Order: sequence, then structure tokens, then C-alpha cells
Amino acid sequence: APAGVRMSNLEKDHIKYQRIEDNLTVIRKRLNQPLTLAEKIVYGHLEDPHNQDIERGTSYLKLRPDRVAFQDATAQMALLQFISAGMPKVAVPSTVHCDHLIQAQVGSVKDLARANDINREVYDFLGSACAKYGLGFWKPGSGIIHQIVLENYAFPGGLMIGTDSHTPNAGGLGMVAIGVGGADAVDVLADIPWELKCPKVIGVKLTGKLSGWTSPKDIILKVAGILTVKGGTGAIVEYFGEGVDSISCTGMATICNMGAEIGATTSLFPFNSRMADYLRSTKRDGIAQASEHFAHNLKADEGAIYDHVIEIDLNTLEPHINGPFTPDLATPLSKFAEAVEKNSWPAELKVGLIGSCTNSSYEDMTRSASLVSEAKQHGLKFKSKYTVTPGSEQIRATIERDGQIKTFSDAGGVVLANACGPCIGQWDRQDINKGDKNSIITSYNRNFTGRNDGNPATHAFVASPEIVTALSLAGDLRFNPIKDSLTGVDGQKFKFTPPHGAELPARGFNPGEDTYVAPPEDSASVQLAVDPASDRLQILTPFKKWDGKNPADLPVLIKVLGKCTTDHISMAGPWLKYRGHLENISNNMLIGAINSVNGEANKIQNVFTQEWDQVPVVARDYKKRGIEWVVVGDENYGEGSSREHAALEVRHLGGIAVIVKSFARIHETNLKKQGVLPLTFANPADYEKIAATDRISIEGLESFQPGTPLNLAVKKADGSKISIQVNHTFNANQIEWFKAGSALNKMSESKA
Ligand code: SF4
Repeated sequence: APAGVRMSNLEKDHIKYQRIEDNLTVIRKRLNQPLTLAEKIVYGHLEDPHNQDIERGTSYLKLRPDRVAFQDATAQMALLQFISAGMPKVAVPSTVHCDHLIQAQVGSVKDLARANDINREVYDFLGSACAKYGLGFWKPGSGIIHQIVLENYAFPGGLMIGTDSHTPNAGGLGMVAIGVGGADAVDVLADIPWELKCPKVIGVKLTGKLSGWTSPKDIILKVAGILTVKGGTGAIVEYFGEGVDSISCTGMATICNMGAEIGATTSLFPFNSRMADYLRSTKRDGIAQASEHFAHNLKADEGAIYDHVIEIDLNTLEPHINGPFTPDLATPLSKFAEAVEKNSWPAELKVGLIGSCTNSSYEDMTRSASLVSEAKQHGLKFKSKYTVTPGSEQIRATIERDGQIKTFSDAGGVVLANACGPCIGQWDRQDINKGDKNSIITSYNRNFTGRNDGNPATHAFVASPEIVTALSLAGDLRFNPIKDSLTGVDGQKFKFTPPHGAELPARGFNPGEDTYVAPPEDSASVQLAVDPASDRLQILTPFKKWDGKNPADLPVLIKVLGKCTTDHISMAGPWLKYRGHLENISNNMLIGAINSVNGEANKIQNVFTQEWDQVPVVARDYKKRGIEWVVVGDENYGEGSSREHAALEVRHLGGIAVIVKSFARIHETNLKKQGVLPLTFANPADYEKIAATDRISIEGLESFQPGTPLNLAVKKADGSKISIQVNHTFNANQIEWFKAGSALNKMSESKA
């Protein structure tokens, strides 16, 4: 493979194809079987290909990703943690994207100005942290993380992680791109290998050719219908077959993006000429050429073994409309009108929304505009409200120059800011009241209840931008543009010709306004912008080291009954605002967990004062007394999201151990990273033996080692004592995290 090709025009770091080649030489000898593309890229990034245990669906891989991307909501705590480790620069090329905090109200210019005002301190902090620690910073208005990554950073054969679920979008450029929680991203910034359960691989074979009304979106709408929202769990979905070449690069990105809706680890396409075209049109000829040379490792081997294969014939694939309320309820267009009637879905279409990170390519915009132009020839405008969210400033500027924005606006469409907006509920919707039953259709990816406008009665459907546009011109969900006609102002009926457009702009992309800030070469003088009086941001102080003693006489803060997810431990909703302020967000610690003593949430007894109070209030009282505490919990404790706040808050308020029947693995690891002891009852029935009034001493830490259980000496209220054995899953390295006070402390010790 040719050396010396830069990963991005905006950075100096080079693509490491040689490492993939070298790793695969080792892996091929060891596994001695044909490999899928997903395996080639993932194993090509193994830290230790010689000794790594590799078993799909079972072993945990230690990987070295090429880069990290953050969106602004998740970046705050991740960067605060990284900063607390005291390292001078991030270990791999990384970027931060300001896209999630911009609310759509009236249109791009005013909405952006308002967001700049409301979120100023968050943006200032992120901008200054990026400058100081060497991350690229994309200002508000630059666009949506995944679109910008596709335009500037994704490359075939790369491995990246991003703190957002639709990171897999970069699979459209042949990159293994995986959405993770902040804690994982911090590891990679701090040069700690990243752990991933060795993924299974689901093959999707595409035969035939896309044409007419059918678009790339319809492939993933169909796949979602087949695999359902859980079908991709633990697997990489890998596309192959002759049909692949009939899909544009941005179309492949759409498919990979929405693969998140079936729970897939990520989705992936093999390198082809469509990717090379896109790389060249985004000024990355060098990468296109290097990928062409490396093409043998950018596709699956002949006879590669998939865990499961599904086949889709593009010649017969119809446009689909999925929803409402779930992305896997797939209905072919020809059956949709009937489904609307049968299910009493509101037939009047209130709003059509195109764009977002999922579907705002030049191709999407030109194909949609072709329908609007055709309607205009018959004197028609949008019947429904219609919004366009460009995925990036580059897309916006290009479709402005080339006239599509004018086409949309002339017909009554509104162009929103280059940001997430209505896709993430940042939508100040005025046309209906909360609770009104109504229908909207989007070219986005998610359509869970209330996601777009916070109204649980809104029926949100998902389709290709072309179908969204046609239905918005008709104003009715039952309209089938393939067979139905509309009536022009002249009273004549007409049928749409199938949408048509250009895959890439003939005159090249217009970069638009410059919204990127590169980190300065010398950042010594950069000051972090955090106002000590801020209630949204707070610099973290490193957690204390372990004092070398077995913790004794610990009170049980709460004995949790039943299900306790990361939402119970650290609730979202109104608390999201405090994601960058550990002290403030800790006021939600465990407020959703059910106390086994009274069956109530957020009501526990303070063992020192005997008063009943809220969980965080009691924890703060113990902390003030200098007393550490434990949590006792049930099965699968900490399931749900990878939210690192759930572990950080417990540690911040003085928790030293969480003792449960069983853990959800990610939360267990997150606790270890923050210096908390996650322990499991050797005999799960021992959960019953512990009362909320017991005092617990943890014994055996002086000889803490992998595989050796610890002991709890439990003192009952009546003075009697019992002994309970507990297990842990710490490896030698993780024990060092505990001793140092956290994984980051350990990392900064070893760098010092
Ligand atoms: Fe996520 Fe929607 Fe933003 Fe895409 S546009 S990154 S799906 S919130």
C-alpha cells in the first residue's frame, strides 16, 4: 500500500494501510479462513493480533481506532474528563461538532443566532478545549457531525468511533464507524485501547439495480422491516453483491446511517468506484488512489462466512414508508394508502421534513427538487408544511448556488439551520397543539414517539426524501406518486415523472462559509473558557487515590429493588442541560431507582439522622461526614445506555462499591473506570441477606487480584455479623485503575 496519504485534508496524520496489511498477515495464519470485510477492517486495527482472543460474538477485542468524533451534547463531559487526566494533547485525530443544541424555530439565520446566544458558554468551552488539546472544532452552523465526517474524514478501511448513535454513516465510505459512549471515547483520546465485543457479521446481498422511484433509503427501510429494531444487535451489517454498484456513495451512507435503527454495531459497504468518485469530488484524490491500490483488503474474501445472510432484489424493490412510532414497521408504497385507512392513521399530511444527517446529499436534494419543479410547471406548491435541513454548510451553499434552495422556497419550503433541529426534538413546532393527533413524514432515521416535536400523538413516518417531497406536494399520506395524479391549476391532471438528479455537483461543491477551526500548533497560551459561576460546566478534579485500606463500616445508601437502568441512575430529559456539570447533574443520582425498603423512588433513610430524604441529599450528607457508602442492587444493574454520568455521579458523591446480583457489562466497566468497585454476589440469593441498615466492610483488597473473590463482613443492626462472598471481574490492568482512583488517573500517572 502506498504510504504517506493523509487521513484528511485538514490534518497531517496519515492513513495506516500497512498496519492493516501486517495485522491481517498474522490473523490469516491464525484463523485460516476467508474473511468478511468487517473482519478485515476490525482485525486490521487490533492492538495485539498475535495474542488477541478472536471469537465472533464472544471475545472482547482490544482495538486502536484511527479517529474520534464528538457531537456537542456528548463532548462536554468527555472533554472534561480528558482534561482532568492532565494530558497535553489527544492521542488520535479527533473533532467536535456543534449540531445538537440548535433549535429550529423560524429558519436558519435567526435560529443559529439564537442558539449562539443560548449556548454560548458551551460553545466557548468546547472551542477552547479543542484548541488547547488539539481537536478540530466545527462551529455551530457548520453542519451535522456525520455529514461533515463523510465530507472530510471518513476513508475506506478506517476505524472510527463517535459519541453518537448514527456514527455508522461513514460506512458509506467503507469505514467501520461505531457509536459509543463518552467513556469509551475518553479512553481513545487518552491512548487506552478501546474494547469491543468481537462482532458477528450479517451479510446483505444486493442483486439487480436501483431505478425510478426506488432510492437507497428504501433498501434500509426494507432491511429494517426484515431484521426489526433488535435484529442487528452485536453485529456489523455488511452489504455486498452486484447491486452495490448502482448506489451512490452518499446513498450507501444513508443505508449505513439508518442501520443504527436495527441495533447494528455498524454497517459497511465494500470500496467501489462510487466511493472513489465521491472522494475525488470532495478533493481527496490521494485517498481515492490509495484505496484503489488497497482494494483487495477493502472487500470481503471469496467465500467469506456470514452469521446470517439476507438477499434483496433491487429490480423489484418498491419505495417503502416506515412507521409510525417505530422504524421497523415497513409498508411498501403500493400498500400504504390501504394501511393508512385500515389503521386510522391521520391521512392529512401536516409536515414533510427532508435532510438531516441521514438524507441531505446533493443527490437527495436534486432528486427532490426535480419533483418540486415539475409541480411548479402545473402551478402547484407544497400543500403541507415542508422543511429542508442541509447536513452541512457545504451542501447548503452548493444547493443555494445551484438553485435547489430557490426551488424549495418558491414552493413554500423553509430551509432550516445546518443542524439536527427537528430530528432530535429541537423543533419549536407551532402548527398544532400538544396532544393533537396528526401525521408528519421525514427522511430522517428515528421516529420513536415524541422524538421530533415532543407530541406523543404525532404519527411520524420515515421515507426517502423523494417520497416525502411528493407526499408534501399532495398534502396527503395516501398519495402514491407512481400511480396517482395531481390536478394542476389549469384543471389538468398530471402524473410525476420519476425523480431525477445529479449524484455530485457538476461544478464541484461550494464550501460556503468557513466554519472549521483547526487547533493551533502551539496551544500553550490557550485558556479554557469555563466560568466558575456556570451551572452548565464545571472543571473536574481527579478522584482521590485508594488509601490502601479495606473500607470498613460502610452504610448502604440504597438497596435497589428490581430493574435499575442507567436512566434510573442518571435520568435524561431536563437533566441533559447539566451534562457538563458533574456537581449539578449529580442531583439526579439514582432518583429513579426503587428503594427495596418502601417500594418508592427517591426516598431513603439517612442512617445517621434517621430522616427520610432524597437519594442525592442523603449521599451528600454522608459525603460531608467523610463517609463512603455502597449501593446494593438486583439483576442486570446498569442496563440501557453507555452514559458515563451514571458511574461518575456515584463516585463523585462518595460511592465506593456497587454490589449486585449481576451487571450490564458496559456500566460495570464504566464503574471500574471511575474507581468504583462493581461486585457481584457469589450466591445471588445473598442479596436477600443484606438490609438497608447493615454496615459493610469490604475485605481482601490488600491482596486484590484477578479471579480472587472478595469478602463482605456485614454487621447487622442488632450487632450480629455475617460474611458474604462477592466476585469481581477486574483484570490486572483494571486493578491499577482502582488503586490510582480512576482509569484516567492511572493513564496520567504512567504518562508523567
Ligand atoms: Fe442524530 Fe438526527 Fe442529528 Fe443525525 S440529525 S446526528 S440522527 S440528531
